[in-house]
Amino acid sequence: MTLSELLKKAAAGERLNPDEGLLLYSEADPAVLMEIAHDLRLERTTPGVVTYLVDRNINYTNACTTDCQFCSFYRRPGHPEVYVQSKHQIGERVEELLAWGGTRILMQGGHHPDLRIDWYEDMLSWLKTTYPEIELDCFSPSEIENIAMLEAMTMEQVLERLHRAGLDGLPGGGAEILDDDVRARISPKKTKTAEWIHAMRIAQALGMVTSATMVIGFDETWEQRLNSLTCLRDLQDESLAAHGNGFTAFIMWTAQLSETNSLGRSRHRQKYGADYDEYLHTNAFARIYLHNFTNFQASWPTQGLDTARKALFAGANDFGSTMLEENVVSQASAYSEREPRMSVYRLHAQIRLAGYEPAQRDSRYNTVRDFDRIMSKEELAPVSIPTRLNGVDESVANFIPVTSQ
Ligand code: SF4
Repeated sequence: MTLSELLKKAAAGERLNPDEGLLLYSEADPAVLMEIAHDLRLERTTPGVVTYLVDRNINYTNACTTDCQFCSFYRRPGHPEVYVQSKHQIGERVEELLAWGGTRILMQGGHHPDLRIDWYEDMLSWLKTTYPEIELDCFSPSEIENIAMLEAMTMEQVLERLHRAGLDGLPGGGAEILDDDVRARISPKKTKTAEWIHAMRIAQALGMVTSATMVIGFDETWEQRLNSLTCLRDLQDESLAAHGNGFTAFIMWTAQLSETNSLGRSRHRQKYGADYDEYLHTNAFARIYLHNFTNFQASWPTQGLDTARKALFAGANDFGSTMLEENVVSQASAYSEREPRMSVYRLHAQIRLAGYEPAQRDSRYNTVRDFDRIMSKEELAPVSIPTRLNGVDESVANFIPVTSQ
């Protein structure tokens, strides 16, 4: 098939095979791909509206034994800065989110060598009982695999227990590039492709909310990026056919390099990372190739606001979230390090600046609130709410020391 025939096929929203995808991704003019991606976004999601979520990340522990080369967030067991958050600390963060009208927490941490499954179950069931209106999208396939290894259980058993305890969704963190040659270079101790996909398959079969992610800039080839997208697309096909519950969205960003991670300090540093044009190009291609995905998020915390607004014309229909707190990518010089918080008012302003109307959604992309007029700062400001933390132990006794080395 010629490139011009392929462009017509892409514009018609048809499925491309991997060879066709590779040709389109590597040979087509990125500006043309962005136009096609934008047209597909207008056909598949509500034109004129850009959605967003009010949520916050809660990084419950930074202890990790996995040593990913791109990570600036984790601390090895025994490091003086290792922490595990208590119920009281996590509850305070949830209450701040509720004051902002938030609906979800995204709780993620390192691969803690001592936290057992009953710690996770206890935290989830306490959160579900105390804050029933908050969706709990927590952990990632690699954290699930870590718990399974510690407990000598299968990932299915772990996910079933955590789901019963209150887990609503499994976010798609830790995918990076789903190609084991890349993973062996940048994160050799982390979940392999088949296990990452398997964890998501189980979560989707359990009816949980899941998202798909990709991070570019690890000196991977175009073929390896395509392999990653093909893995996601195949599972989406499988899950939608089996029970109708697939990934809710695709989110991509670029590797964040800094002196605080091994890739950033590498003498080969120039091989790593990807610029904003490559981000927009790849986002547009993903909208075309992942024909069975509906929602694509622009990632302002890693790409900055200007590029995130441009992504709304390169296939994205969603501006991500307010992210009241983020500690993982922000520790590697991402945009969010300079601007860690996005108020709802500012987020609205960004969406309107791009020419769209904002709509608040939940994690399944149901509309929570839409806005047909410009809201004032006061109307979108947080409100004070009564605490539900009376009687919850504030002491550091809730911190769990990391004993393993
Ligand atoms: S990315 Fe996750 S698994 Fe890897 S070192 Fe950081 S915290 Fe650990």
